[in-house]
Amino acid sequence: MSRVYNFSAGPAVLPVEVLQEAADEMLDYRGTGMSVMEMSHRSKAFDNIIKEAEADLRKLMNIPDNYKVLFLQGGASQQFAMIPMNFMKNRKAGYILTGQWAKKAFSEAKIFGEAVELASSADKTFTYIPDCSDLPITDDMDYVYICENNTIYGTKYHTLPNTKGKLLIADQSSCFLSEPVDVTKYGMIYAGVQKNVGPAGTVIAIIREDLITDDVLPGTPTMLKYKTQADNDSLYNTPPCYGIYICGKVFKWLLKTGGLEERKKINEAKAKILYDFLDQSKMFKGTVEKESRSIMNVPFVTGDKDLDAKFVAEAKAAGFENLKGHRTVGGMRASIYNAMPTEGVVALVDFMKKFEAENT
Ligand code: PMP
Repeated sequence: MSRVYNFSAGPAVLPVEVLQEAADEMLDYRGTGMSVMEMSHRSKAFDNIIKEAEADLRKLMNIPDNYKVLFLQGGASQQFAMIPMNFMKNRKAGYILTGQWAKKAFSEAKIFGEAVELASSADKTFTYIPDCSDLPITDDMDYVYICENNTIYGTKYHTLPNTKGKLLIADQSSCFLSEPVDVTKYGMIYAGVQKNVGPAGTVIAIIREDLITDDVLPGTPTMLKYKTQADNDSLYNTPPCYGIYICGKVFKWLLKTGGLEERKKINEAKAKILYDFLDQSKMFKGTVEKESRSIMNVPFVTGDKDLDAKFVAEAKAAGFENLKGHRTVGGMRASIYNAMPTEGVVALVDFMKKFEAENT
């Protein structure tokens, strides 16, 4: 067996222990004589899997009882529509534009009502998080929307916006479970799981219970109402069973390895290794303003496209996969999610040092 260091932005690296356990259980899940992929979502075995996954996530994130946990489908992008459909009662909401994913959510919301740009970092190619201490939020806005960690640009909110009492809704796809969060500060948190938690296709939504009502925009399909999903404990229809099963294993792995406080320490130390190198390198440069840096996605450039391409190719040959930056920004990006071992980042930095020495 040979595994590479996979720096993909998502789908992304998962803990080897989790993959190994899933492999061991593939043909016969705990004496059921079948894999989780083959079992009824109404079976006792699956009921245990989904209940345990929810309980473990609640423990990990310290989710208060007045928040529902939903396992959904359709990718994070489907939430761009579900959020306005379910929450844009006044047909007006504020969006902070910090990158492609926030922009996509903003465009989608415009289908349903007035989506207002509250702040943006487009002026500097989304390389920073704008000041959100005094945003032009009006009383008639239903919510304030953020993309908390910007996967493509490598920025992260280190202070949540002052929403002036309005609901905060956050896309945490690329920072979910990377550190502790205070769930009570949000009306809703959601994440596509394919970065830090599991296979693509599953989405986790954590929503304050009182916000989940039948009072949704006219024409909202049954499947796209949070109420439908909440009333049926995410089992209104067949859920993404295998995805939920893997998420459950990752929750257990996180609990076993010290929970989110410990994870934050590990992630910060891991990111520091790479940022410290970038800060002193004469060839490689981080593209993000220091105070907005993500500890999950680290974009960098050499300033020379051909050299970037040479680096990506040589890195790949040396076992460092998926370092090419997003197609819209170029350069490089190392995504260093929870399951990227510290050794992977150390090895990458060693490789970058060698490349720098050989090419200057
Ligand atoms: N939000 C963020 C922050 C993302 O990084 C992505 C995907 N990379 C999405 C939303 C869209 O996710 P999906 O492909 O699951 O719709």
